Amino acid sequence: MNLAGKRALITGGGSGIGADLARGFAEAGAEVVIAGRRMDALEAVARKTGARAVQADVTDEQSVTRLFLEAGPCEIVIANAGAAESAPFARTSLAQWHAMLGANLTGTFLTFREGLKQMPGWGRLIAIASIAGLRGYPYVAPYVAAKHGVVGLTRAVAQEIAKREITVNAICPGYVATEMTERSVANIRARTGLDEAEALAALTKTSPQNRLIAPAEITSLALWLCSQEARGMNGQALPLAGGEA
Ligand code: NAD
Repeated sequence: MNLAGKRALITGGGSGIGADLARGFAEAGAEVVIAGRRMDALEAVARKTGARAVQADVTDEQSVTRLFLEAGPCEIVIANAGAAESAPFARTSLAQWHAMLGANLTGTFLTFREGLKQMPGWGRLIAIASIAGLRGYPYVAPYVAAKHGVVGLTRAVAQEIAKREITVNAICPGYVATEMTERSVANIRARTGLDEAEALAALTKTSPQNRLIAPAEITSLALWLCSQEARGMNGQALPLAGGEA
């Protein structure tokens, strides 16, 4: 994979999957721009990977517009920023609903729209959705709804850009070994009194492979989507979840 001469913009690049995407795309020769709200986290990843850090909130239209102006034309745009909160559905507040739709769905909408506007000729739009974009899970209804929305958005945009040298796809991972999953484990422990191994097992057992996905597995699929050989892959929601869906 040689992405020399291509610029890749990754939202939520200060941690977890986004930080690994920055590593992988930089190693493949791309010029990497990472965006997020926390400059300290972004700068730590920037130091390790050589990426350029730009502060942006993906839920804020002006902020996303500014981000692409600062970044310069990007051939590869990865809408990775997202957030997950859990609550029983009947106790889910409207604020939680808006927060999940904002970070996961509106964030992807704004990133894709502004990303597409400035895309030179050839391009790749990639959303890091979730296996929760393809099937339901308990206690995370707004997250599941938002990620299904990301998959729908991907399918719709794919139809519009199909005649161009651009593709748009969504990667749908199961539980990944990142801070987000660590927070889910901590929540389960707080709610149930399970110890760390038991709480983690409650998550990994949702996968037929009974394990967490490594961020590098997602990076490797994202890199492949950027190859010429993947140009026929458009509008797809690709599960990366050990057979969970
Ligand atoms: P993470 O919490 O480490 O990363 C999410 C990043 O997005 C953070 O850096 C966060 O600061 C950033 N972010 C959140 N809201 C933002 C906003 N409004 N503007 C800018 N940045 C914002 O978790 P992760 O696991 O690396 O998650 C990355 C993506 O992968 C998310 O979209 C998540 O939903 C998805 N995902 C994660 C898992 C998992 O198990 N961890 C599974 C499937 C999908």
